[in-house]
Amino acid sequence: MLQIRGINAVSIVAPSDQSFPMTKVAACLEEDPGITHLCFVHCETTTGVVNPLRPMVELATRHGVRTIIDAMSSFGAVEISAREVPFDVLVTSSNKCIEGPPGVSFVVASLETLDSKTSETNSFVLDVRDQWRNFEQTGEWRSTPPTHVVQACAKALEELAIEGVVRRGERYASVRDAVIRATGPYASPLLDPRDRSPVCLALTARDVVRTQEDLDALYAHLVEYNLYIYTKLHLPTRSFRIGCMGCIDPMWIRLLGIAFEDFFQLHSMNPEATRAAV
Ligand SMILES: *Cc1c(COP(=O)(O)O)cnc(C)c1O
Repeated sequence: MLQIRGINAVSIVAPSDQSFPMTKVAACLEEDPGITHLCFVHCETTTGVVNPLRPMVELATRHGVRTIIDAMSSFGAVEISAREVPFDVLVTSSNKCIEGPPGVSFVVASLETLDSKTSETNSFVLDVRDQWRNFEQTGEWRSTPPTHVVQACAKALEELAIEGVVRRGERYASVRDAVIRATGPYASPLLDPRDRSPVCLALTARDVVRTQEDLDALYAHLVEYNLYIYTKLHLPTRSFRIGCMGCIDPMWIRLLGIAFEDFFQLHSMNPEATRAAV
């Protein structure tokens, strides 16, 4: 996205199954005083790692660098306090832990940031400031809003307010732990317990699920039980993911355990059988 807009960027590459290497980030900011913004993902949905929000923001602030946080898969289930963690911009949307339909995104930014005139806009669609001013002045969207999505999202936010972020996070965590128990004999969590988010769980079953074709076979097997997991194998870690967001019936997790048992037992008797089935 930055390349398309002609904005220079340095990327800090780190393994996706570990939380951010703070020393690497600090070294990067020290080496390059030209850096103005630090953009990072709070919960890395690829593996479920929760990155250290407060230390990252504090580090950036010490260097006079502004922060932009992708909180897509944490907002609504992981506590984030704008009072305690002075980030500049945080972005999320309606379709993950808010449990609404896809179609609306949210930007949380200080009035100071919104009001500043530090940069020219280079996009109409992504001009949050212009949309914000328009809301303030006329109460209206600049173009036709997705009305049904907005209504459903407003309802979802009401329900989030009733349940509360902490309890929602706990509910997802108990789904995650039940999935770990149900799949335990056949698959193991990729991450250390301290790095695991409540939002999604990355599992590995190294003897059986090694390639995308192997995961395709497991996926097709689960579909027969009317269970749907994320389709892609994360190749660097050979892990696959199960989401814990939304309204998950405990019965589905028990069924998942049975489906795993059927799949992995069949596979241990005849490793080619599952592949042949696909
Ligand atoms: C889901 C996700 C996105 C993409 O958001 P969509 O609105 O679903 O396209 C971006 N970043 C992270 C960390 C996500 O989990």
